[in-house]
Amino acid sequence: MAITKTDFINYMRCPRYVALENIDSKKLYDLISLEAYIDREKQELLKELLSDINDLEEVSDAQLEVMLPYYKKIELLAGHLASKYFEGTFKFSEQTLNQECFTFVRRKLRYLCYVDIYNELDNYFNIIEVKATTSKKYLELTFIDEGVKKSIFTKNDKGIYYLLEDDDITYLSNKSYVKARAKLLDKYSLVGRYVYDLAIQRYIIENDLRQNGMDDKIRKSGYYLAVLNHDYVFQGLYDKDTPIYDIDMNKEEIIRYFDMKKITKEAMKIVHADALKIENYLIDKNVEPCPLGIYCEVKKTTKCKYIPVCWKHIPKHNSVFSYIDNHLGFMVDSFKKTTYDLINENYLKMTDVPNRYLTRKKNKIQKEVVLNHQPYINKKRIKEIIKHIKYPIYYLDFETFPCPLPRFKKEKCYSQSVFQYSLHVETEEGKCDKNLDHYEYLAPDNNDHREELIKSLIKHIDLTKGTIIVYNMAFEKGRLKELATIFPKYRKELMQMHDMIFDLLDVLKGNQKLYSKLNLNSDSIPFNYYHEDMNGSFSIKKILPLFSELSYDNLGVHNGVEALVTYANFGNMDSEEYKQKYQELLDYCAQDTWSMVEILWALKKI
Ligand code: SF4
Repeated sequence: MAITKTDFINYMRCPRYVALENIDSKKLYDLISLEAYIDREKQELLKELLSDINDLEEVSDAQLEVMLPYYKKIELLAGHLASKYFEGTFKFSEQTLNQECFTFVRRKLRYLCYVDIYNELDNYFNIIEVKATTSKKYLELTFIDEGVKKSIFTKNDKGIYYLLEDDDITYLSNKSYVKARAKLLDKYSLVGRYVYDLAIQRYIIENDLRQNGMDDKIRKSGYYLAVLNHDYVFQGLYDKDTPIYDIDMNKEEIIRYFDMKKITKEAMKIVHADALKIENYLIDKNVEPCPLGIYCEVKKTTKCKYIPVCWKHIPKHNSVFSYIDNHLGFMVDSFKKTTYDLINENYLKMTDVPNRYLTRKKNKIQKEVVLNHQPYINKKRIKEIIKHIKYPIYYLDFETFPCPLPRFKKEKCYSQSVFQYSLHVETEEGKCDKNLDHYEYLAPDNNDHREELIKSLIKHIDLTKGTIIVYNMAFEKGRLKELATIFPKYRKELMQMHDMIFDLLDVLKGNQKLYSKLNLNSDSIPFNYYHEDMNGSFSIKKILPLFSELSYDNLGVHNGVEALVTYANFGNMDSEEYKQKYQELLDYCAQDTWSMVEILWALKKI
């Protein structure tokens, strides 16, 4: 067994990880079997895909496997397109066995990696690492140059993105440029984790070349990230049923390449220090608890698997992590402390934190609620907001499939493709029957049913009056806007719906923009409702049990990720399973809208 890239990322987390893993370092000299390598890396790919799809929700690996073919397809697209941007020959494959492999041994430990795309030229090569993320993250690393906002990346005449400083190093004296660029070297940031990943490969490759006397190649070789182009619009062309990702109407290709040679060179120091740490951890094998930190990655798809062991002393409910905005830190005697600092100083429960550390009003309210076991309710404000809701009320919810590769005409990478809606209609106050006043649409298969869905939705909403209630409106508004752009024929109706939307979350969480729209005094109270069982979250799954007996536990589909995976799996089911899963999806989405009915009714009673 060798240390692969995935192992490297895990082993460097902290001294305790390798001890808990009980790794026999003597075995880390042997070459890893291909099956074991593929298995380990696959788990990471799945997590990587999920991190671009959704916030972390608990789903099984088996459910996530449905996404794997898309990842493989991105790798192949990046490999085929690379010849438009780079010269020389290319080695890439869906099969890891056929990819270029590098390995080196130090202190009787073997490091090993396979590369996604190996581009060989006369006396050097380029390494191109493919990531199922989008170019948006990189191009949105911006700074201010003479009053103008710019990306730190620009495009060369071949279409490859590179850092502006390569043209003019004066950018390195611009503080905002340096700040944005620093994110590339932060392995725990969204953009930095992929750079770090590529830098580990570079480290293994360079050590391999050095040990084989090929130092001349080290200086010349290039390192690139290939990611999905977030501006690319699919033209809707297919070869039989397979989408053809040709150049789009704006002359954009589906993949963008970013030159990371300079930044990964800088990262070599960080990777080398991490490698030495790992080597020492493997000798020490210290299983004693160590301070918790960002490296535990608790709220990310990349979270450490030993969280149940190391975090078991932290309460599941109302811990310091339940403080809203805790990521901004806490001020302690004019010094900023992170939530990890507090945890490592044994402030575990919300109520452990001294009042003087709580500078945010919302955190003070949270602590009061937990101490007194009494919910905080701003009845006056709730009443003032609710009276602006007009009948009939349409409770609406969409389910979507954010496919990494666009499937249907005019979609982009990770477009939230709507495949289902649920609608409950309350014609007048208190008059809404769970079954009789319910309308829904669910695509029967993975083909393009967007227009049918739009038509069905328009049929059930009177656009001349009433309110459309959603929970967390940015999502539904965004989908209606996208559909209006893709289907101009229905633009008027879809935008009318968009303008009728009212966010139930605003009643609970408060919203200053809404207050000024409704001519309500804007007050400094951060929210209108808080209950200790919310555990710092306003998600509908947390709110529902406070107002209703309804539960998601007894449903076949429990959350949004399970919903999209069930839909994506339609084609792999036999007819019996399909019938059952189809019904489970209908039940899940119907519960989302009926939950809003029950929450609003309960709020009115309050
Ligand atoms: S949970 Fe945190 S402290 Fe424990 S092994 Fe993982 S990274 Fe280390």
